Amino acid sequence: MKHPAAIIIHGGAGHVTKYIKENQAAYESGLKTAVMKGYDILLRGGTALDAVETAIISLEDNELFNCARGSALNYEGKVEMDAAVMDGSKRKAGAVSMIRNVRNPISLARKVMEKTNHVYIAGSGALQLALSEKLKLEEDDYFITPHQEEEYRKTHKKESIRTILKKFIGGTVGAVAVDCKGHVASGTSTGGEVNNLPGRVGDSCIIGAGCYANDATCAISCTGDGEFLITGVIANSISKVKELTGCSLQEACDRVIHRDNKGVKGDLGAIALTPGGDMGIAFNSERMHRAWISPDGHLHIKIYKE
Ligand code: ASP
Repeated sequence: MKHPAAIIIHGGAGHVTKYIKENQAAYESGLKTAVMKGYDILLRGGTALDAVETAIISLEDNELFNCARGSALNYEGKVEMDAAVMDGSKRKAGAVSMIRNVRNPISLARKVMEKTNHVYIAGSGALQLALSEKLKLEEDDYFITPHQEEEYRKTHKKESIRTILKKFIGGTVGAVAVDCKGHVASGTSTGGEVNNLPGRVGDSCIIGAGCYANDATCAISCTGDGEFLITGVIANSISKVKELTGCSLQEACDRVIHRDNKGVKGDLGAIALTPGGDMGIAFNSERMHRAWISPDGHLHIKIYKE
């Protein structure tokens, strides 16, 4: 049986800023381009994994989003990126963290999944894999955009490290897709949080926290305050709620984000999709950049709360 294909992407959750308002049209166009590129793969019979990787590469190459080019700068003014992918049909995953100079960390995460026996490779070992797999590298300044430099300087000079570390300024991108064979996949890629400590690893590359996919339940990609997404094991919780209660995927997302993690003092956002094309989108922040093409083929692009 041919399953109807569908895809959801996100471009980060958080508060509404002047920069976001000023660049709203460009954000919407970036989301549209990415979701259509992913969907095109699905329409041509491609896999959910290819669709997820393609959509995320489009967002990674777009400097508006906090991942790859356009990544947030850490406390030393440097870029360190995290990414993960998971294939729901095989329940295999690949993840990388503390990545520098790799143009598309999502493709490196996929290489970990497909070319090694590991799930997770960090730092210089990941760079070695990128080199041996001939992935495209860029100089440091490729990743640093004027906007992220300004965000870094704004907080870095004026405030102590203690104050900075209490503030969450994130971004991140992610995608979930179901292909015409009914297989799901998910991916997440981030530049982390502005001014985070060097070596800090967020949820995006942690399987079960910021990324999870399982054909038996659903695929999920998260965004928001990484520390809470990790301690709440958000992606896997959504999958488990779906599995154990049999509720709709939207109900599972709402329950995990708005009920089970109600008291959490951080931004949490998730997109999710089942092999049957059931969708879930939930966030507790002022906005979550998001776009999707539902199984009926309709395109939706949204940034703010409804
Ligand atoms: N979750 C990401 C992190 O903590 C940031 C984000 O989603 O904005 O690294």
